[in-house]
Amino acid sequence: MRIVVCIKQVPDTNEVKLDPRTGTLIREGVPSIINPEDKNAIEEALKLREAGLETEIIVITMGPPQADAALREALAMGADRAILLSDRAFAGSDTWATANALGLAVEHLGDYGLVLCGRQAIDGDTAQVGPQLAEYLDIPQVTYVRELEIVDGKVRAKRTLEDGYEEIDAPLPALLTITDQANTPRYPRAAGIFSAYREQTVEIWGAKEVNADEEKLGLKGSPTQVKRSFAPEPKGTGEMLSGTDKEMTRSLVQRLRGKNLI
Ligand SMILES: Cc1cc2nc3c(=O)[nH]c(=O)nc-3n(C[C@H](O)[C@H](O)[C@H](O)COP(=O)(O)OP(=O)(O)OC[C@H]3O[C@@H](n4cnc5c(N)ncnc54)[C@H](O)[C@@H]3O)c2cc1C
Repeated sequence: MRIVVCIKQVPDTNEVKLDPRTGTLIREGVPSIINPEDKNAIEEALKLREAGLETEIIVITMGPPQADAALREALAMGADRAILLSDRAFAGSDTWATANALGLAVEHLGDYGLVLCGRQAIDGDTAQVGPQLAEYLDIPQVTYVRELEIVDGKVRAKRTLEDGYEEIDAPLPALLTITDQANTPRYPRAAGIFSAYREQTVEIWGAKEVNADEEKLGLKGSPTQVKRSFAPEPKGTGEMLSGTDKEMTRSLVQRLRGKNLI
């Protein structure tokens, strides 16, 4: 079964800063990583193979040329094939245009059984691309998946709820979004890294390769309009109380009473 895993290269968010003048992300010098839940998605695909399913695991990312590193890491983990969707025509895509571009690529590959995405990207944070991609492909979707198996030609998935989980059977092909509860992604082995950089290739596809209508891509194909990006104003500095536990508690209660909060 052909399994397509969509991965996004994201900045390591603990280190992301906004330029206060332009309101844009400062990317220079910020390390990039594979979005963590996308690694969980890769791991699920590898687990299916190790459970005996005959698979071809294809990783796809839409991004700039440096996203090659994310794809090489996925190859090193054990993916069979890697595709980088990279073209000026894709620049400025919102989630809708991103899902359309990924959808075109998945259709171009054809003959797929599963499409796996991470639940959510840690930078954009919308969790929209997986569901939008399923809508584009017109296939069933199961979100928030923490366990999956293939049973009688269907996918059986456990989907996390606030107070437990639900089990869903879906016909194939289907799209699943995977959470970090699913597994602990493996580290690539030295042989995998060697093969990813020396023996395997990353295919680069542009708008032409996927027969895209450029009007539906990038900024032109993005219905979202961003008016302004800004970092929230810092709140006032905190106040540290001192003294014994009793004194600090009394002082805190007085302050809260003074503000009519208790
Ligand atoms: C008007 C507008 C313009 C924008 N312009 C740019 C821009 O120029 N450059 C830029 O980097 N961002 C741009 N963005 C942000 C970009 O739209 C989002 O980062 C992107 O659509 C993914 O959304 P998300 O991060 O919320 O992912 P989520 O929806 O949270 O991601 C869920 C899952 O979808 C998959 N996925 C998400 N994105 C990709 C991808 N690119 N490739 C493969 N799989 C993916 C992954 O499996 C991921 O775990 C723009 C956004 C808007 C609204």
